[in-house]
Amino acid sequence: MLDIARDFLLANGQLDVERIREDFPILHQEVNGKPFVYFDNAATTQKPIQVIEALTHYYLTDNSNIHRGIHTLAERATAAFEATRDKVKSFLNAAEREEIIFTRGTTESINLVAATWGNQYIEAGDEIVVSAMEHHSNMVPWHMLAQRKKAKVKIIPMNDAGELLLDNLENIITSKTKLVACVHVSNALGTINPIASLINAAKKVGAVTLIDGAQAVSHLDIDVQSLGADFYVFSGHKLYGPTGVGVLYGKRSLLEAMPPYQGGGEMISEVTYEGCTYNELPYKFEAGTPNIADVVALGSAIEYVLTIGKKNIRQHETILLDYATKKALEVPGLQCIGTAADKVGVLSFVFSDVHPQDIGILLDKSGIAIRTGHHCTQPLMGRLGIPGTSRMSFAVYNTIEEIDLAIEALYKALRLLR
Ligand code: PLP
Repeated sequence: MLDIARDFLLANGQLDVERIREDFPILHQEVNGKPFVYFDNAATTQKPIQVIEALTHYYLTDNSNIHRGIHTLAERATAAFEATRDKVKSFLNAAEREEIIFTRGTTESINLVAATWGNQYIEAGDEIVVSAMEHHSNMVPWHMLAQRKKAKVKIIPMNDAGELLLDNLENIITSKTKLVACVHVSNALGTINPIASLINAAKKVGAVTLIDGAQAVSHLDIDVQSLGADFYVFSGHKLYGPTGVGVLYGKRSLLEAMPPYQGGGEMISEVTYEGCTYNELPYKFEAGTPNIADVVALGSAIEYVLTIGKKNIRQHETILLDYATKKALEVPGLQCIGTAADKVGVLSFVFSDVHPQDIGILLDKSGIAIRTGHHCTQPLMGRLGIPGTSRMSFAVYNTIEEIDLAIEALYKALRLLR
């Protein structure tokens, strides 16, 4: 079915991007009469044909409900679904497949932990520590939990470059801390956070850790065991996979001690008129018919990324980021937001005299898709004293030529706006 075991590298060791672009049909179109340039990858990545084919193949040949069926298609669908669990297990280097829970995405994974682990273990006066650059998905569920439980949310501050400040950490992560929840890679700034240090600091006080890997999984190798993260979460759609599917990794001991999230089919062991007992992991947290097709296709996305190689992807995106940053800084009045030493391919910028939204609209007229606004990080924007940024975020299929087009379009937009 799939044909992904191809050579994606040029003789010089760099990625054969033209070859990779052949796998992404959506890129080969004009938008507003111009060649389409997609720089909104931090919002969602485009999908390679291998992922799209996995999805259609599933519906064309295997569609069935899983786990309970004894017929051939039910067995095929179950095998394909569970095969993705094994792929995710090795993708994250989890110790056991039972530690991989399928959810709708990062947001649901975090809400699951807040609603189950949080409800069980957070008490009045406890502290939940998050960073200054969290996406709302890793902020709001903790605010909600803290309000329910009369607990407190504390913030790890950052410097103006968008790097977390760890020098005062022992006064932030203390014996009162029950949870440290931090974004691995910032969607608004591109910063790669020192999560190993945070996890170690949390461990010293016996706090549980949750890492939001939404922006990390497509760029960085993730090893939850060597990191020692208790929970690690991500979404399929930011990893060249489909929307509507994501992952919660949790350590078995924690998952076993947590109450279920939702009640319904699959998550039970036995139900009587009087009550019920719960299924074993991972099914205890997968109530109802899951998003089978998209889980299957997520497996193809993981294969795709691993076939190209994260190291190669990162190397390519770093070339793009360096080039784009250099070109952007030549644009009069442009200020880069997020200048951490350790970054992925995210270029956020502002002008004192031009609104980000106007830039986004005019770039779209030139066929270039970027994101503007607060990027679901309002507290971070408040910290930086700006309402929002314009953000170009790069992926494996982007090119230097596309950056040239975007910068040219930016000059054109500024001529109109100033
Ligand atoms: N966390 C980060 C860092 C993100 O960038 C995003 C999405 O932009 C999310 C969480 C939420 O992901 P989803 O909407 O797929 O649940």
